[in-house]
Amino acid sequence: MTERGLVLVVEDEKPISDLLRLYLQREGFGVHAEFDGPGGLTAARTKHPVAVILDVGLPGMDGTEICRMLRAEDNWVPVIFCTARDDEVDRVLGLELGADDYVTKPFSPREVVARVKSLVRRSNLVQRGAGPMQLGPIVVDVTRRRVLVEDEEVQLTATEFDLLTHLMSEPGRVFSRDQLLSEVWGYASSVGTRTVDVHVAQLRGKLGDASPIRTVRGVGYSVESDS
Ligand code: CA
Repeated sequence: MTERGLVLVVEDEKPISDLLRLYLQREGFGVHAEFDGPGGLTAARTKHPVAVILDVGLPGMDGTEICRMLRAEDNWVPVIFCTARDDEVDRVLGLELGADDYVTKPFSPREVVARVKSLVRRSNLVQRGAGPMQLGPIVVDVTRRRVLVEDEEVQLTATEFDLLTHLMSEPGRVFSRDQLLSEVWGYASSVGTRTVDVHVAQLRGKLGDASPIRTVRGVGYSVESDS
């Protein structure tokens, strides 16, 4: 029943929480539900979920604040935000919260579960036998999902890590935003390609001057084949 691991649902609207539980359990996930901010933060710290579905507007503490605190504690559990309004989408995308994905209410529970599955699959992905990838000062230990820039470890979200390794897998190739959405996120472009731009911007911010990611105007992104 829980062979896929535990998903933490932090959502104060009980009908939505119940619906998510139903769909997640049907797919083999265990579910732990919390209905306010402080409870959600504690559960994220103590229950070791494989993913967190996090409402933005919560009693006691905002979902964005919970995510920020987890990241500050070096907790990189995949987080999917549920946003109720466009201005919340802007907040989630605009702040460097380390979110992996977001959905806008009203959402289809089937869609949310598909996102959770994609995210968990990617963060569990261990490419055994794969040697480290290197590009200039950036070294990626694919097996341990670690990234070093000039021997300093850089903490990336699951999505940022996958985006970087995907781009680095074919230096010089130009990936369109739609290609990145389907190849990295694992679903079609229905969510819009803005999410790709936001994650690329966050990744660049973390890699700093070492970032090999080049914007190809009107097309998408590429990494330099040698730097
Ligand atoms: Ca809410």
